[in-house]
Amino acid sequence: MTPEENGGHHLVEDAVVVYLKYDFDADDWIVDRAAVDGGALFSQFSDYKGVEAPLTEECVCDDPTACEQARLHAARTSLPTGEELMHRIRDAVEAEGRA
Ligand SMILES: [Zn+2]
Repeated sequence: MTPEENGGHHLVEDAVVVYLKYDFDADDWIVDRAAVDGGALFSQFSDYKGVEAPLTEECVCDDPTACEQARLHAARTSLPTGEELMHRIRDAVEAEGRA
């Protein structure tokens, strides 16, 4: 994605780990308490291909210095907690018109 396609910004991405456990009484997967303990969720990319999260590898720009500055800026913001992620998923679903 080019910065022009991303609202004029470099594309900085991350992904979080949401721990699940199997609940045999419900016979289904449930969210483990560790995911909602109030702490920031862990990055899926924390040890990804030897690069440091968040990632900019999908940004198609010609300014690696500015891209790295954008990545470092995003890195200063904590990843969401489980509760914050719940709200952001709801917002994203609503924005897609499926709620
Ligand atoms: Zn970039």
